[in-house]
Amino acid sequence: MVKKIIRTRFAPSPTGFIHIGSVYGFLLDYAYAKGRGGQFILRVEDTDQKRFVKEAEEHLYKGMNWLGIIPDEGPKKGGPHNPYRQSERLDIYQKYARQLIDQGDAYYCFCSPERLEKVRKKCRAEKRPPMYDRCCRKMSKKEAEERVKKGEKAVVRMKIPDNEVIRAVDLIRGEIKFESKHLDDQVILKSDGFPTYHLAVVVDDHLMEVTHVVRGHEWLPSFPKHVLLYRYFGWKIPKMIHTPVILDPEGGKLSKRKSNTALAWYQEQGFLPEAILNYLGLMGWSHPKGKDIFSLKEYLKYFDLKDVSPASPAFDLIKLEWMNGVYIRSKKDGELVKLIKPFLPQMSESQIQLAVPLIKERIKKFSEAKELLEFVWRCPKYGKDLLLKKIDQKTAKEMLFKAKEVIEKVGIKKTRVLQEKLMSLIKKKNWKTGKFFMVLRVAVCAKPITPPILESLPLIGQKGTLKRIDLAIKKLS
Ligand code: GLU
Repeated sequence: MVKKIIRTRFAPSPTGFIHIGSVYGFLLDYAYAKGRGGQFILRVEDTDQKRFVKEAEEHLYKGMNWLGIIPDEGPKKGGPHNPYRQSERLDIYQKYARQLIDQGDAYYCFCSPERLEKVRKKCRAEKRPPMYDRCCRKMSKKEAEERVKKGEKAVVRMKIPDNEVIRAVDLIRGEIKFESKHLDDQVILKSDGFPTYHLAVVVDDHLMEVTHVVRGHEWLPSFPKHVLLYRYFGWKIPKMIHTPVILDPEGGKLSKRKSNTALAWYQEQGFLPEAILNYLGLMGWSHPKGKDIFSLKEYLKYFDLKDVSPASPAFDLIKLEWMNGVYIRSKKDGELVKLIKPFLPQMSESQIQLAVPLIKERIKKFSEAKELLEFVWRCPKYGKDLLLKKIDQKTAKEMLFKAKEVIEKVGIKKTRVLQEKLMSLIKKKNWKTGKFFMVLRVAVCAKPITPPILESLPLIGQKGTLKRIDLAIKKLS
């Protein structure tokens, strides 16, 4: 028997930004297929024209490119199952809706929105979940066809069988039973000829030869409807996996209101794609050797969908930051200079080259570099109290005065020599080393936390350094 090629798909409805939960979804799709010599496809589900945002698709490509998750087939690249945008496949869905009507598994429904609203109201009054009352299901096929021919507007609904327990198998959740009495006769084709999600997803997953459907847990209630559609068409159901929902650390679903859900936010903050993928890879899955840090390549080697835990993991920004720091430290300085440049528009490339080794160990994301290096391009205002932490005014002033003399003599470029001279000064004066450098740090950088102070002086230059020391002396006079 020829082994079937694994094919997974990411099928977003691009409505604007890329949710971090979507990244999680397509990472699993990608990892499972690519780890098995399979194919990963992108299909744009743009049938809900009201929600559709044109630029969103471009945005999606950019995000996926940045992460290095590149589909083998998709709207841009094309492939054997063109087109990959659902709005361009309407004739296909219409054909299959027609087939279901002919088979007697679907029917035309002519009910007006007003009538449907009345039905819903009645359900609510009787404390039942709002469901269509199947009014048009009773109509003869002949009558329905005639009304459609005359140009009357109609949707197509699938028939849900009475009193059936529909069994559906999820790869990580096992068998799930759904009672058909809770399911609505779902609209599968709208009156404007557009399919709804249910018809389009089943038809496309089948035609595009998808072997594993990986989708968010929120689609679980749709599962029995899809099982029925597969049955009506006589198609084999692909393996289905409903991934766990990522929870907000505050509780509930990871949501825009409580947390940062947009991939763009993580990019702006200076997270590395490797760290994001590594972190998400550990959501509901663990490395067989218990490792926390691993490359995408290694993830592909070990990852299996069946090992994903259905329990919802909580998003832990602190852990992601830690992981990002690990990735930052593992990079060569030259690469970091390039990556960090967009975050430091105020600094020249040679300044960034000087700064990178000083901050590399101290930052967890690139946006922190800006805060840490702000002293390079501006000397913020500060009060003299900052200079006088655990030290008296007279000593602090003398420290600065003497430091200035040494710097004037030695310069700032030879850090080691400068350090030696300052240390012998400190010893001679019997000062506390920590206190001395704190006063100097605040004088030069206007804050108590900075990269190593002497190494930082070349970033400001000799003139700048001396000017700032003078300013501090003045504050103490
Ligand atoms: N278009 C659906 C969405 O926006 C895709 C669901 C699926 O993967 O089947 O999430």
